[in-house]
Amino acid sequence: MLKIHSLDTFGTHDGPGIRLVIFVQGCPFRCVYCHNPDTQALTTDKMQLLDTAEILELLTKEKSYFGVTGGLTISGGEPTLQAPALIELFRECHRHGFNTCLDTCGAIFNQTINELYDLTDIVMLDVKHIDPIWHQKITQNNNENVLANALYREKSGKELWLRYVLVPGWSNQVEYLEAWAKYFADYKSLKRVEIIPYHKLGVFKYEALGRKYELEGVQPPNGEEIDQALIIFSKYLGNKVVVV
Ligand code: SF4
Repeated sequence: MLKIHSLDTFGTHDGPGIRLVIFVQGCPFRCVYCHNPDTQALTTDKMQLLDTAEILELLTKEKSYFGVTGGLTISGGEPTLQAPALIELFRECHRHGFNTCLDTCGAIFNQTINELYDLTDIVMLDVKHIDPIWHQKITQNNNENVLANALYREKSGKELWLRYVLVPGWSNQVEYLEAWAKYFADYKSLKRVEIIPYHKLGVFKYEALGRKYELEGVQPPNGEEIDQALIIFSKYLGNKVVVV
């Protein structure tokens, strides 16, 4: 059974084409800008439980919208906290002809996660900062496992997308943008890099949860700041880089 926060039956932002996007509960990171803090706990009294057969039924209903590129994306929260259930689900997806995407922060690295990656058609990995100290400040964890997951994917030769949330004062330092892009410049599995400008859409959720919002006063990046990141990333990663 997968512990689920919510579903988007017509997702167009998390992977190619039109997708069923399932946002699962649970995340080991505590990102300062998290816009889904209500997904961080692994269990809540509002969560839904769905098994593989129920998810396949949803996919079958939507099949005609998927075309060649669409399919299933599991996002969160952090999906790999529920890796055993996803391994079973992704196996069945392939048996029924549905492609699979995993939107992950890369927090956990072990053999089970390796197995899940092998069953995933596109891994969309958030590398939130290249510097371990800044990564720790942003997520409360260092980036060792994140980079190990990226390398595992590269060695497997299967498709990898990277995502980067651009936050003024936190993740827009020129030297680290350069270092981030250089780090992945030779990755052959890397097909797309998404720069995601920070936004404040989830701030109201912190109030509802009675939690302090750490980025009070931080504004979304302006056009110039976004262009700067795009130019730096594109210098090393070419036209794979997009702002979304
Ligand atoms: S990894 Fe994603 S879900 Fe987890 S805390 Fe960070 S932004 Fe939120």
